Amino acid sequence: MSVFRDPVQTAIRALEAELAGGAHADLAPAVDRLASLLLQREERLRAIEKAQPERELLAAMPAAAGLIAADGRIRASNAALDGLSPGGRAIGLTLLEITRQSDLAEAARRALEGSPKQLEIQFAGRTWIANVVPMLRGEALALLRDVTGARMAEATRRDFVANASHELRTPVSAIAGAAETLLSGAMDEPAQARLFVEMIARNAERLARLTNDLLDLSRIESRQWPVKLEPVPVAGTARRAVEVCSEPARRKRIELRVDVPEDVAVVADARALEQVLVNLLDNAVKYTPEGGGATVTASPVAGDRIEVVVADTGPGIERHHLPRLFERFYRVDPGRSRGSGGTGLGLAIVKHLVQMQAGDIGVDTGSGGTSFRVRLPRADAPAVH
Ligand code: ADP
Repeated sequence: MSVFRDPVQTAIRALEAELAGGAHADLAPAVDRLASLLLQREERLRAIEKAQPERELLAAMPAAAGLIAADGRIRASNAALDGLSPGGRAIGLTLLEITRQSDLAEAARRALEGSPKQLEIQFAGRTWIANVVPMLRGEALALLRDVTGARMAEATRRDFVANASHELRTPVSAIAGAAETLLSGAMDEPAQARLFVEMIARNAERLARLTNDLLDLSRIESRQWPVKLEPVPVAGTARRAVEVCSEPARRKRIELRVDVPEDVAVVADARALEQVLVNLLDNAVKYTPEGGGATVTASPVAGDRIEVVVADTGPGIERHHLPRLFERFYRVDPGRSRGSGGTGLGLAIVKHLVQMQAGDIGVDTGSGGTSFRVRLPRADAPAVH
């Protein structure tokens, strides 16, 4: 048992020190202290033993749980509550000593008087829903549920809805504004009319891209994307992705190349892998200055995996952006992204698609360009596509 190990060890060390110093006459206080600590420890062990049946009940609870005796001290606890307690044992402590939260201590006091209470508290760097309910014999039960993950997910969802609404509102207002201007007279002046119709077309296109990306993301996240894992040849898939991006690449004089041996295949969902490569190549084209290039390569790496790399000769990405790069709507340079038709969702979709195929994704970047690395399981026999 380790309940009082430290104080006992301190007392023993004091004893040893005194013995070593030869001051035998002064041993009495140290021995007394040691004896009283051992006594306390025994009492505590007895309390733990007595609480065994309750402990077994509490162990089954999906939360940190403790039974509070009428004196406000924990009489039985489960391992989760012990893990949160100083010294790794909740028995004998008050909720205030464990959590340092006076609101919870007050709720426990009221529960011992018969009134249940639920409250949200912060401690140990996490968010908890605490329930304290009166029990028989003037005792109370305390349950602490860790809701940190749920709270974070709620915040992420709130942010996402706010961001998506903002992104959608911008092109909608532009379209409405341009139509209004046309109707209030610009329609009769051909040069002006053309400008506003172009504005409508541009923003309608942007709206379509956004809604498509949002739909893809929601389909992937709600697992409605039918994943069919099979051997997929990388070279053929990369060539199809290059084909999709060839028109914008041609306009910017960006050379897209596939340098992958024909016999390299991965276990993947063919459509998902193609979408991943399209999104990465599309970014390479968008962010690489005119006259640059992007290349798809593939090579075996440890763990029987293939690393598919999309490397461009663009400006690179500053390191401090990397931790957030794959977040939805995260943009390094929002103006530049919007200007080139970016929705801010491309890399979030890529990350989800890669994870869906049991792969992982990384990025290397510097002033010489950016390389996105996608690792997927190697397939032995490539299927014919
Ligand atoms: P977007 O639609 O804005 O391109 P993404 O999620 O695809 O959204 O990418 C997020 C941000 O990462 C982009 O806005 C851009 O700033 C940066 N980025 C992505 N790919 C590259 C790249 N190949 N070179 C430089 N920056 C890039």
